Amino acid sequence: MKVLAIDVGGTAIKSALVCDNGELIDFRELPTPAVIAEGILEAARGYSGYAAVGISTAGLVDYKQGVVIFSSAALGYRDNEPLAEEIGSVLGVPVVVENDVNAAALGEAKFGAGRGCSDFVCLTYGTSIGGALYLNGDLYRGSRNMAGEIGHVATHAFGRPCPCGKQGCYSEYASVTALVRMAMEVDPAYASGRIIAEKMGGDPWLMAAVSAWADEVCVGLAGLIHVFDPPRVILGGGVMSDPAIVDIIRETLPEHILASYGSVEIRGAETGNRAGLLGAAALAFGEAAKA
Ligand SMILES: [Zn+2]
Repeated sequence: MKVLAIDVGGTAIKSALVCDNGELIDFRELPTPAVIAEGILEAARGYSGYAAVGISTAGLVDYKQGVVIFSSAALGYRDNEPLAEEIGSVLGVPVVVENDVNAAALGEAKFGAGRGCSDFVCLTYGTSIGGALYLNGDLYRGSRNMAGEIGHVATHAFGRPCPCGKQGCYSEYASVTALVRMAMEVDPAYASGRIIAEKMGGDPWLMAAVSAWADEVCVGLAGLIHVFDPPRVILGGGVMSDPAIVDIIRETLPEHILASYGSVEIRGAETGNRAGLLGAAALAFGEAAKA
């Protein structure tokens, strides 16, 4: 069986047919248009032989209703847009929609670092931090589809102001944006996660900044580990594709958790820039199985 996976981002709509084993066929990428539903239908044109469509998108999504409740102004959804119905009525197959962070966790569960594991926490580090809880073999979405919002859990009382309006949020200290800010205090040339990962071995001052950031990362992880006691934690986002960065976090964590949680596995995400498509595909396979 194949499904059609669509990943809606701020700049591009990616699409591909996806096989049971996670193989992508006929990958395409189109610029994101002003009217997202039109862009999705344009992306779907020319594909055939799929049993269901999975859509991963930025924004707040009601997965059960297939509705995009709200998105940032950068994405042209209407408020409460019934996306699954709009797309399904044209394509004539089941359509399922999920937000990108939850989709990434589902992609890891089916095709990546979460395979064979019924409980894990999946965090994505970028300009901010996204989180998803995969418990008892499924996503835990919460009563408002907003579970896992670790990025806005305060790790510093009355700390740095966050764009969300609160202070001291985890994102302000442990995101890649925070890592870059700390590294640029050492040298303004350390202006991206990629440069930092490349240079940290040769500059002890930079390594000290990375180490301080790893402490911030681990404070947030420790909270989740103590609450959920997961056997595995999956770290995603570009910076975590560098095994040396994941190693530093793994080595730092024991200072921040109780020894009895010490066997928790810390792994880098495996789906990389295919996370959105593979997550959408995982959802679509689930939907096709129900139909
Ligand atoms: Zn916040």
